[in-house]
Amino acid sequence: MNVHEVPVRAGNPFCTPESAQRWHDFIAARLLDDLRTEYGCGPDGSGPGPWDYRKALEAASGDLRSFTTAWSGGDPEKIEDAWWGLKNTARPWKAHPDYPEPISDGTMPCPVPEPESGHPCVKRIPRGWTPSEGHGGGHFWEAPKVTELHAAGAHIDNSALLAGQPAKWHLPKDCTPDCWKWRNR
Ligand SMILES: [Zn+2]
Ligand SMILES: [Zn+2]
Repeated sequence: MNVHEVPVRAGNPFCTPESAQRWHDFIAARLLDDLRTEYGCGPDGSGPGPWDYRKALEAASGDLRSFTTAWSGGDPEKIEDAWWGLKNTARPWKAHPDYPEPISDGTMPCPVPEPESGHPCVKRIPRGWTPSEGHGGGHFWEAPKVTELHAAGAHIDNSALLAGQPAKWHLPKDCTPDCWKWRNR
């Protein structure tokens, strides 16, 4: 793909043609599993028959086609819609080892950086969720230096930070009674 052909990217960095294809192939493989294991095997000979299988497979292929069309059109909203169509179809097989996205144990960092500064988001993906599902609320982007200072228990002058000025800070051992940490309470 030439650079000038790359459409406006959707907000979700997981929405790529490669991952859409992976979701589609995963769904197709699971449908085939279901067809093999369940067709005609229910107590009354029920189960998803070849017709249901073809219908479900056709729906997944349709979603992939919509994605491809949206991707070449560069419409972020349609790209997301089609992508989530695929991902939601795959939801019943979330426990399958081939599930195309990792599932958080609660410690997985949010993978979406601030678009301009590239600062990482300090929120975690909740347990049982996938990175593309994200986390509650908005992202909390923070300069790695600030995160490091927070972790060290440093007192940071947030008013300077919010004004876009370099953060003033000191460690608790260097604190004085007129520190902004006490002043702002
Ligand atoms: Zn985030
Ligand atoms: Zn202080």
